[in-house]
Amino acid sequence: MQIVIASKNTGKIREIKSFYHDLPKVEWLTFKDFKKFPDVEEKGSSFLENARLKARSISFHTNRITLADDSGLEVDFLGGRPGVKSSRYTGVDATDKQNRDKLLKEMENVTKISDRTARFICSIALWDPGKGSIFETRGVCEGFIGFEEKGTGGFGYDCIFIPTGYKKTMAQLTQKEKNNISHRGKALKALYEFIVNF
Ligand code: IMP
Repeated sequence: MQIVIASKNTGKIREIKSFYHDLPKVEWLTFKDFKKFPDVEEKGSSFLENARLKARSISFHTNRITLADDSGLEVDFLGGRPGVKSSRYTGVDATDKQNRDKLLKEMENVTKISDRTARFICSIALWDPGKGSIFETRGVCEGFIGFEEKGTGGFGYDCIFIPTGYKKTMAQLTQKEKNNISHRGKALKALYEFIVNF
Protein backbone atom coordinates (compact mmCIF):
# COMPACT_ATOMS: atom_id res chain seq x y z
CA MET A 1 0.00 0.00 0.00
CA GLN A 2 1.36 3.42 -0.98
CA ILE A 3 0.40 6.58 0.92
CA VAL A 4 1.51 10.08 -0.01
CA ILE A 5 2.21 12.53 2.83
CA ALA A 6 0.72 15.88 1.80
CA SER A 7 3.35 18.08 3.41
CA LYS A 8 6.65 19.69 2.51
CA ASN A 9 7.51 20.05 6.18
CA THR A 10 10.42 17.65 6.59
CA GLY A 11 10.03 17.61 10.40
CA LYS A 12 6.43 16.51 10.07
CA ILE A 13 7.32 13.87 7.43
CA ARG A 14 10.03 12.49 9.73
CA GLU A 15 7.60 12.41 12.69
CA ILE A 16 4.95 10.53 10.67
CA LYS A 17 7.39 8.01 9.19
CA SER A 18 8.98 7.32 12.57
CA PHE A 19 5.57 6.90 14.21
CA TYR A 20 4.72 4.21 11.64
CA HIS A 21 8.17 2.60 11.38
CA ASP A 22 6.78 -0.86 12.27
CA LEU A 23 4.10 -0.79 9.55
CA PRO A 24 5.81 -2.66 6.70
CA LYS A 25 2.66 -2.76 4.55
CA VAL A 26 2.94 0.97 3.81
CA GLU A 27 5.37 2.60 1.42
CA TRP A 28 5.37 6.30 2.29
CA LEU A 29 5.77 8.71 -0.63
CA THR A 30 6.56 12.41 -0.30
CA PHE A 31 6.86 15.51 -2.47
CA LYS A 32 10.35 14.28 -3.41
CA ASP A 33 8.79 11.40 -5.38
CA PHE A 34 6.72 13.62 -7.67
CA LYS A 35 7.46 16.27 -10.30
CA LYS A 36 4.33 18.29 -9.56
CA PHE A 37 3.42 18.78 -5.90
CA PRO A 38 1.45 22.00 -5.39
CA ASP A 39 1.36 24.10 -2.23
CA VAL A 40 -2.22 24.03 -1.01
CA GLU A 41 -3.58 27.19 0.56
CA GLU A 42 -4.99 26.54 4.06
CA LYS A 43 -8.15 28.56 3.53
CA GLY A 44 -10.55 26.36 5.52
CA SER A 45 -12.18 27.56 8.72
CA SER A 46 -11.42 24.39 10.67
CA PHE A 47 -8.47 22.03 11.06
CA LEU A 48 -10.45 19.23 9.44
CA GLU A 49 -11.41 21.37 6.44
CA ASN A 50 -7.75 22.26 5.90
CA ALA A 51 -6.64 18.65 6.26
CA ARG A 52 -9.28 17.60 3.69
CA LEU A 53 -8.28 20.40 1.29
CA LYS A 54 -4.64 19.32 1.39
CA ALA A 55 -5.35 15.58 1.19
CA ARG A 56 -7.80 15.96 -1.72
CA SER A 57 -5.63 18.27 -3.78
CA ILE A 58 -2.46 16.19 -3.43
CA SER A 59 -4.39 12.98 -3.99
CA PHE A 60 -5.68 14.28 -7.33
CA HIS A 61 -2.20 15.38 -8.39
CA THR A 62 -0.50 12.13 -7.43
CA ASN A 63 -3.43 9.79 -8.12
CA ARG A 64 -2.71 8.00 -4.85
CA ILE A 65 -4.13 7.68 -1.36
CA THR A 66 -2.93 10.76 0.52
CA LEU A 67 -2.58 11.66 4.18
CA ALA A 68 -2.79 15.27 5.35
CA ASP A 69 -2.90 16.81 8.79
CA ASP A 70 -3.60 20.26 10.13
CA SER A 71 -2.98 21.35 13.68
CA GLY A 72 -2.88 24.32 16.00
CA LEU A 73 -3.63 25.83 19.38
CA GLU A 74 -6.97 27.07 20.72
CA VAL A 75 -6.94 29.40 23.74
CA ASP A 76 -10.26 29.83 25.58
CA PHE A 77 -9.54 33.35 26.86
CA LEU A 78 -8.94 34.42 23.24
CA GLY A 79 -12.17 32.87 21.97
CA GLY A 80 -10.29 30.00 20.31
CA ARG A 81 -7.50 32.02 18.71
CA PRO A 82 -4.93 31.49 17.24
CA GLY A 83 -6.73 28.36 15.94
CA VAL A 84 -6.25 27.65 12.23
CA LYS A 85 -3.96 30.68 12.09
CA SER A 86 -1.53 29.24 14.67
CA SER A 87 1.49 29.23 12.37
CA ARG A 88 0.77 32.72 11.01
CA TYR A 89 -0.57 34.41 14.15
CA THR A 90 1.58 37.51 13.66
CA GLY A 91 1.58 37.35 9.84
CA VAL A 92 2.49 35.11 6.92
CA ASP A 93 6.22 35.13 7.67
CA ALA A 94 5.79 34.87 11.43
CA THR A 95 8.37 33.04 13.52
CA ASP A 96 7.30 30.72 16.34
CA LYS A 97 8.89 33.14 18.83
CA GLN A 98 6.90 36.13 17.49
CA ASN A 99 3.69 34.12 17.72
CA ARG A 100 4.41 33.06 21.31
CA ASP A 101 5.31 36.60 22.36
CA LYS A 102 2.04 37.91 20.94
CA LEU A 103 0.04 35.25 22.75
CA LEU A 104 1.76 35.81 26.11
CA LYS A 105 1.25 39.57 25.78
CA GLU A 106 -2.45 39.13 25.06
CA MET A 107 -2.73 37.04 28.22
CA GLU A 108 -0.59 39.10 30.55
CA ASN A 109 -3.58 40.19 32.66
CA VAL A 110 -4.91 36.66 33.08
CA THR A 111 -3.14 35.90 36.35
CA LYS A 112 -4.94 32.70 37.43
CA ILE A 113 -3.60 29.58 35.70
CA SER A 114 -7.12 28.10 35.80
CA ASP A 115 -8.25 30.91 33.47
CA ARG A 116 -5.52 30.10 30.96
CA THR A 117 -7.03 26.91 29.54
CA ALA A 118 -6.09 25.88 26.00
CA ARG A 119 -5.79 22.84 23.77
CA PHE A 120 -3.73 21.58 20.88
CA ILE A 121 -5.79 20.01 18.10
CA CYS A 122 -4.72 17.86 15.17
CA SER A 123 -7.06 16.74 12.40
CA ILE A 124 -6.03 14.08 9.92
CA ALA A 125 -7.69 13.17 6.62
CA LEU A 126 -6.90 10.21 4.37
CA TRP A 127 -8.14 10.72 0.81
CA ASP A 128 -8.52 8.13 -1.94
CA PRO A 129 -8.60 9.72 -5.44
CA GLY A 130 -11.38 7.35 -6.49
CA LYS A 131 -13.49 7.26 -3.32
CA GLY A 132 -12.90 10.61 -1.60
CA SER A 133 -12.29 10.81 2.12
CA ILE A 134 -11.83 7.31 3.55
CA PHE A 135 -10.71 8.14 7.10
CA GLU A 136 -10.78 11.22 9.31
CA THR A 137 -9.76 11.65 12.91
CA ARG A 138 -9.00 14.34 15.45
CA GLY A 139 -6.63 14.30 18.39
CA VAL A 140 -6.85 16.77 21.27
CA CYS A 141 -4.42 17.60 24.08
CA GLU A 142 -5.87 19.78 26.86
CA GLY A 143 -3.73 22.09 28.99
CA PHE A 144 -2.88 25.62 30.09
CA ILE A 145 -0.84 28.52 28.77
CA GLY A 146 2.11 29.09 31.12
CA PHE A 147 3.32 32.53 32.18
CA GLU A 148 6.72 32.26 30.52
CA GLU A 149 8.69 30.06 28.13
CA LYS A 150 10.16 26.90 29.65
CA GLY A 151 12.07 24.05 28.00
CA THR A 152 13.89 23.66 24.73
CA GLY A 153 12.29 20.58 23.13
CA GLY A 154 9.49 20.49 20.58
CA PHE A 155 8.53 23.48 18.44
CA GLY A 156 5.85 26.14 17.99
CA TYR A 157 3.93 26.81 21.20
CA ASP A 158 5.35 23.83 23.13
CA CYS A 159 7.43 25.87 25.58
CA ILE A 160 4.39 27.85 26.80
CA PHE A 161 1.92 24.93 26.89
CA ILE A 162 1.48 22.90 30.10
CA PRO A 163 -0.51 19.70 29.47
CA THR A 164 -3.24 18.94 32.03
CA GLY A 165 -1.83 16.85 34.90
CA TYR A 166 1.76 17.98 34.30
CA LYS A 167 3.95 20.56 36.00
CA LYS A 168 6.18 20.87 32.94
CA THR A 169 5.65 22.42 29.54
CA MET A 170 5.41 20.26 26.44
CA ALA A 171 8.93 21.46 25.56
CA GLN A 172 10.27 19.87 28.78
CA LEU A 173 8.97 16.40 27.86
CA THR A 174 10.88 13.81 25.83
CA GLN A 175 9.65 13.14 22.28
CA LYS A 176 8.29 9.80 23.50
CA GLU A 177 6.37 11.42 26.38
CA LYS A 178 5.01 14.05 24.01
CA ASN A 179 3.90 11.43 21.46
CA ASN A 180 1.97 9.60 24.18
CA ILE A 181 -0.20 12.57 25.12
CA SER A 182 -0.06 14.94 22.16
CA HIS A 183 -2.87 15.80 19.78
CA ARG A 184 -0.80 14.55 16.82
CA GLY A 185 0.21 11.35 18.65
CA LYS A 186 -3.45 10.55 19.38
CA ALA A 187 -4.56 11.23 15.81
CA LEU A 188 -1.68 9.22 14.31
CA LYS A 189 -2.50 6.32 16.66
CA ALA A 190 -6.14 6.26 15.48
CA LEU A 191 -4.97 6.29 11.86
CA TYR A 192 -2.54 3.47 12.67
CA GLU A 193 -5.46 1.23 13.71
CA PHE A 194 -7.29 2.08 10.48
CA ILE A 195 -4.29 1.27 8.26
CA VAL A 196 -3.57 -2.01 10.08
CA ASN A 197 -7.15 -3.14 9.34
CA PHE A 198 -7.30 -1.72 5.81
P1 IMP B 1 0.51 23.00 10.72
O1 IMP B 1 -0.31 21.83 11.13
O2 IMP B 1 1.81 22.57 10.11
O3 IMP B 1 -0.27 23.98 9.89
O4 IMP B 1 0.97 23.75 12.08
C1 IMP B 1 0.21 24.75 12.68
C2 IMP B 1 0.93 25.47 13.78
O5 IMP B 1 0.34 25.08 15.03
C3 IMP B 1 2.43 25.22 13.97
O6 IMP B 1 3.20 26.08 13.18
C4 IMP B 1 2.60 25.53 15.43
O7 IMP B 1 2.69 26.91 15.64
C5 IMP B 1 1.30 25.03 16.03
N1 IMP B 1 1.45 23.64 16.46
C6 IMP B 1 0.89 22.54 15.89
N2 IMP B 1 1.26 21.42 16.55
C7 IMP B 1 2.08 21.84 17.54
C8 IMP B 1 2.80 21.12 18.54
O8 IMP B 1 2.80 19.89 18.65
N3 IMP B 1 3.53 21.90 19.38
C9 IMP B 1 3.58 23.23 19.30
N4 IMP B 1 2.95 23.94 18.38
C10 IMP B 1 2.19 23.24 17.50
